[in-house]
Order: sequence, then C-alpha cells, then structure tokens
Amino acid sequence: MSAEALRTEPKRINTPVTNGDRLWNDIVATARFGAADKGGVTRLTLTEEDREVRDWFVAACRALGCTVEIDGIGNIFATYPGEDMSLPAITVGSHLDTQPQGGRFDGILGVLAGLEVLRTLKETSTVLRHPLTVVNWTNEEGSRFSPAMMGSGVFAGALSLDAAHALTDRDGVTVGAALDTIGYRGEARVAPAAFAAYVELHIEQGPLLEASATEIGVVTGIQGLRWFDITVTGTEAHAGSTPMAQRDDALVAAAEIVLAVRNIARENPPGVGTVGFVDVGPNSRNVVPGSVRLQIDMRHPSEAGLDQMEGALQEAVRKAGARAELKRIWSKAPVVFDPSIVDAVRNSAEALGYSATDVVSGAGHDAAHIATIMPTAMIFVPSKDGLSHNEAEYTAPEECARGAEVLFQTILELDRH
Ligand SMILES: [Zn+2]
Repeated sequence: MSAEALRTEPKRINTPVTNGDRLWNDIVATARFGAADKGGVTRLTLTEEDREVRDWFVAACRALGCTVEIDGIGNIFATYPGEDMSLPAITVGSHLDTQPQGGRFDGILGVLAGLEVLRTLKETSTVLRHPLTVVNWTNEEGSRFSPAMMGSGVFAGALSLDAAHALTDRDGVTVGAALDTIGYRGEARVAPAAFAAYVELHIEQGPLLEASATEIGVVTGIQGLRWFDITVTGTEAHAGSTPMAQRDDALVAAAEIVLAVRNIARENPPGVGTVGFVDVGPNSRNVVPGSVRLQIDMRHPSEAGLDQMEGALQEAVRKAGARAELKRIWSKAPVVFDPSIVDAVRNSAEALGYSATDVVSGAGHDAAHIATIMPTAMIFVPSKDGLSHNEAEYTAPEECARGAEVLFQTILELDRH
C-alpha cells in the first residue's frame, strides 16, 4: 500500500498528521525480534529478544534527539523537548514484551505510535509546549515473571523495586539478574511528578469495535474483578440404595450456584460471571457427591456493580444450603479514567472524522497502575475476530494509522491546556 493510501487526511483540522505507512514499517521491522513460526512474536520480558527491541527503540528515539532514561526496573523513558522544559511532560506508551506465541500488535503498537508522533514532530518542525515522553513499561505480560504490569506497578508504587528485583522465573532467575543480563537495570530516578498525563494506545483484544464497525474505542476505564472460592459440603452416599428424597447431593447444590452466577451477570449488565473450575468429591459414577469446590470470576466496570453481584452471589449460596461456604479470595477495583483526558480522546477522534464509541477495557493494562498517579486514558483500535495473545492477532495498517492519528491529536489537545 502506498503512503497516500494509508494517510487518512484530517477532515476538520489543520495540523500535521502521523504517517501510517511509516508506522506500519516499524511494526513489520520490530516483529523480527522474537519472530515466531506462524507470523507472531515470542518476546518474553528481559530476554535477548526483548533486549533487541529495546535497543532498536532507544536508538530510534536518540536519533530524533530524545533524552533516554532507564529506571531501576528497566522502564524506558524517551523524552522529546518541548518549548517550556519546566512543564511536566505529556506521556504516551505501552509495552514491548509479548506472550509466548503472541501477536505483533499487543503493546508495541502503543510504543511505536508514540515513536511515530515523535517522527512527525521532528519532520514538521512542530514544537509542543510540553516535553513529550514515550515510555516502554517492563514486563506488562507477566508470563515470565509474575505479577503482570510490573514496571508500571513499580513506577506507581504498587510494588517495591526491591521486591520486584527478587521475583524469579521458572528457572530461578531473578528480575534483577535478568535486567543486568540485558543491560537494562537503569539508575534514573524518574518521578511521577515529571508527567502531566498518560495516554496509552492499544489494540482492543476483544470483538466489540469490529462487530460494530467502529474505528476508535474511547476507553473510559478498566473493569474490576472479584474472585471467589465456594465449598459445598453434602453427604457421600450409595447411588443405588439412597432414595432421592434422602439425598444431600453437593453437586446438585453447586449446579444451582453455577446457574445463579450466569443469571447474576445477566441481571447486572455489562457484568460477566464465570465458574471456570469445579472439583467434585469423590468424583465417582456411583457415589452421591459429598463435596464440591467452585472457583468463580466476576467482573464489572463499577464498584457498585461488583457489590450488587457479590450480594446476589451470597444470596444464591445461602439458598443452596447451610453447608455452602463462600470466600472472596482476590479483588481488583475498577479503574475509571480521568474524564478530561477521555474527553480529549473523544474530541480528537471526532475532529479527525472517525467513528468512535466509549468502551470499558475487559483486560488489564499498564494504564491501570498509571491512572492511580496521574490523569490517564486509553485509545483502542479494533482486533480482527477479537483475537489476542495469539499469533493470528491482527489490526490492519489503516486501523493502526487511525489509532496513531488520534493519539497525536490527543497530545496536541492536551498540549494546548
Ligand atoms: Zn498489552
């Protein structure tokens, strides 16, 4: 495709526009770092492949005149000067690591779109009032080292640097040692106060934008989740000689709870509820089940919605009998992005003439941590068939191009205020 075909001219604004062709070339160029057999990428965090893509990114930013800083967890901050260096920087970015046999777009699109904005600024001699920082957060994926979103978590103070350094992978290698091996344990002390706002462009990783033929997702937040374990205790009994009226069947009671979870989610849209694990004891054809363990995942964009769902679940467990016990074992509060940054994204999509809709992210992102320390929002572009964490993950060149244009317009709008 030619540059002309990919460059969508702005309809109502008269400012420089990012170059979709150049962005696509970067996506293709960086997919060679950890290229997998079926067109995807295996670039686990802090591996040799990760080092290669980091080196590429750092070199590209330095060539544009950026100052590059690396902090103790290996986050990379590339800052392009603004007119007033006393102002905090506008920050954009995402992550360069992938899942095993992951895709070419998850994460890296947000970093490369930031780089494309820098290239556009340089090429058009556009000077922003604020400095502009493009960031790569270390270990978003969490597949080699748990937890996920580690670099942004350390930056936001959710996890201490020392604790993060001590975490190990399956082979016993620590995060600290892995950082040293690839040369990305930095010394820079980058304070959140150095930044004014954070905007992350990412692929949707779900089917909604494609299904509604919408070009841009204006992400208003990230849904919260609660995990529950339920134990149902019945009485083991002979399947042949125990009359139906005298049974205390733990699996039948558990089955009522499974159906209740589905109904609770349906009654609390856009909530979702899943029973993904069932353990039946003794799990034998001719024994009335005496015990069942269920693991439940419930999600909703609002805390009130989660409370409502949890209350209904408690009620369902009570109805299932006195011998059912419910425990909440983990929760993550919903993230609500800053309305002024969300508005800037929405206005930018509109100014460019792109169809846009408000969405709540179903997946976690670095932006969830960053939103706790500065005004934050996200931009989504469609994922073909909703596929992600899969080599077949695909977002078309023109869709990536639109995402970068909206990112750039959002930066310009934030820069004016
Ligand atoms: Zn991602």
